[in-house]
Amino acid sequence: MTSLAATTAGIGRNSIGENDDGGAPQPVSQPPLFPKPKTRLDEAVDRELGCGMSEAGYIVLPSLMPGFRQTGAPVEGLVTRDFGTSKKPCKREVAVRVVPRALARFDESAPHYCPDCGRVLEGNGPAAIELAHLPMGSEYTRLSVSRPRMRCPDRECGYSVTLAVPFKADGHNITAPLHRFVCDLLAMGQTLKDVSLMTGLHKGVVKDIDKKRLEGLYTEVGEDGARRLKGPERQSRFLGIDEFKLHDGRRYATVIIDLEDGRVLWLAHTKKKQVVRDFCDFVGDGWMSGVVAVACDMNADFERAFTERHPHLRIVYDRFHLVKNFNDKVISEVRKDEQRRLREEGREDEARALKGSKYILMTKASTRREGEADAASGKVVSRGSELFGKPEVVRKPGSEARYRQLIEENELLATCDIVKEMLEKAYSYRSEGWMRRKMRELVDVCRSTGNRHFEWFARLVEGHMDGIVSHAKHPISSGKVEGTNNMIKTLRRKGYGYPDDEYFFLKIYDGSRRASPGGESPAA
Ligand SMILES: [Zn+2]
Repeated sequence: MTSLAATTAGIGRNSIGENDDGGAPQPVSQPPLFPKPKTRLDEAVDRELGCGMSEAGYIVLPSLMPGFRQTGAPVEGLVTRDFGTSKKPCKREVAVRVVPRALARFDESAPHYCPDCGRVLEGNGPAAIELAHLPMGSEYTRLSVSRPRMRCPDRECGYSVTLAVPFKADGHNITAPLHRFVCDLLAMGQTLKDVSLMTGLHKGVVKDIDKKRLEGLYTEVGEDGARRLKGPERQSRFLGIDEFKLHDGRRYATVIIDLEDGRVLWLAHTKKKQVVRDFCDFVGDGWMSGVVAVACDMNADFERAFTERHPHLRIVYDRFHLVKNFNDKVISEVRKDEQRRLREEGREDEARALKGSKYILMTKASTRREGEADAASGKVVSRGSELFGKPEVVRKPGSEARYRQLIEENELLATCDIVKEMLEKAYSYRSEGWMRRKMRELVDVCRSTGNRHFEWFARLVEGHMDGIVSHAKHPISSGKVEGTNNMIKTLRRKGYGYPDDEYFFLKIYDGSRRASPGGESPAA
């Protein structure tokens, strides 16, 4: 027989409230104009719930749980949940409906035998278990399920068993439909907290479900019984390797990505060369022979680890890292030195003017030119609002003038400008010879300053010339490296980075696949 179970059935009894009785008198005695014949569904509900649908006001929905049978009406209770943050609590009451005496059906007609002595088992009364189930809107649902127990009639044997609930999800006291729902929400990128508030499950339970979900998607059990990452989905031609900070901001980890689709292929806890060797072992020599070039930051010593194993690989120092090195270790430092010098000479005003100049100094000339063009055409950068008394903001001219003034007053900052333009030019070449010539000019300009920050940059460029000019032949876009960097930062901010690194890494792995174009998550 088909089981018609009302699981998340809303109670209609009190939903209208007592005031309703005081309203317009209801024509109770009048028969309906078009009496509807009872359908088979109506009859089945009456039979299942022991009352007519019209009086009870139930919504009867399929339970999606084979073996589930409801025998009583839900009991309503309240719990308090905090929808805010630890700093700004926002406590609210949430209704919880507990469906009592739900039964897990099992085939009683077939005899169950004692595995120890072979006798036919006898019933031993039910054992109760409470399972969280699909919420009904913002109301939680729980099922109080009776699990049938059986025992061996031979007391000497003493065997007893509690039969499994067919609609219970493995590992947690939740139903299979709720488990599927939680996985769907997580796959859509909902945070643990949101899913916890939506379903009434503890955050730890949601995290556990998420981790198992990700393990199912991206890991497999090897021959030695240990869990490991699944191999790459496809052959990569260009790889990117980079370091990122872990949650404490002190320890580093390493990430290897496919530069064309942005997928994370490997994550490891250190930033040592061993990471590269482990990765090469993981993907195998055949796969590595299909890789053309690897992009990396010239500060790390990943380069040699790659070329030692696979001499055919071209190492490319991508533009993102080179510009970042120049911004952070030259422009930033030169500006700080200059500020200190001006202050020591008592030129406080000039020192203060330099203070706010960091970003204007780091912007590309083309960006500044665009800004000036926007200002000339009166481009609106921020719409006004009458509601919040905010005037319309149009792009102000003068960033170019301010930049000019800064570099005119300061010889070193002027050199920063020249070097930046040279870098931009060098990275536009598609001939290694031309790019090398431009980079040598750049080294000379840096040397001519006699400044230690510039000299450091000159040494950096000279020591890595081959990898830098490789860019002309393999113009790898640095967008994917930057994108991965930002995605990791966002995940860390959302709190996935603490304290379970393994979970954090799986989130990164997942994030890179969800974000990649056409890279829909593999089906669960
Ligand atoms: Zn037995």
